[in-house]
Amino acid sequence: MVFLKLEIKAELENVTDLAPAGDDFEYSFKVVCNSCHEEHKKFVTMKRSETRNISNSRGSAHLVWRCGNCKKESSASFVAEPSKPYSAESNGQFATLLKMECRGLEFTDFAPGDGHAREKTGTSFSDVELEDDDWVDYDEKAKVDVRISDIESRWTRA
Ligand SMILES: [Zn+2]
Repeated sequence: MVFLKLEIKAELENVTDLAPAGDDFEYSFKVVCNSCHEEHKKFVTMKRSETRNISNSRGSAHLVWRCGNCKKESSASFVAEPSKPYSAESNGQFATLLKMECRGLEFTDFAPGDGHAREKTGTSFSDVELEDDDWVDYDEKAKVDVRISDIESRWTRA
C-alpha cells in the first residue's frame, strides 16, 4: 500500500480559491500498474461519493481497476480528509489538493474538470471549466476580470 498526494498549481487572478465541486465531482486520473508497469492510455474516473467492491474480498474502494495488460486487479481510495481548495496564497506554487491510498497501482496524471471558484467579493462560480487550462470570466460586483490559468499537477509520495 502506498500513499500518494496530488498537488496542483495555478495562477489565480481576482479569485480567492478553487476547489473540486463537492463529493460528486468526477476526478479523471491516469494510472500505471505496479505489476507490469504499463500505463493505462485512457483516463479512469472516480468520485468520493461512489465505492466499488473489490473482487474476492469484502472490501470496497473508490477505484477498482483491472490492468488490460497483465489482468491484475488493483484499487485506490481517497484518504478520508476533504479536498483542500487551492487558495490564492499558493499562487504559482504547488499545494496539496488530496491524498490517495493505492494498492497495486499508482497515479500519474490528472485532468481537471469543472471546478468551483470563489471570487474576492464572495461571488461563486460553480462551472469553472478547466479543460483548456485557462478560464476567464467577469465579476459583475467587483467589475474586474477573473482568470485561472497555467494549471499544472503532479503526484508525489505522501
Ligand atoms: Zn499490469
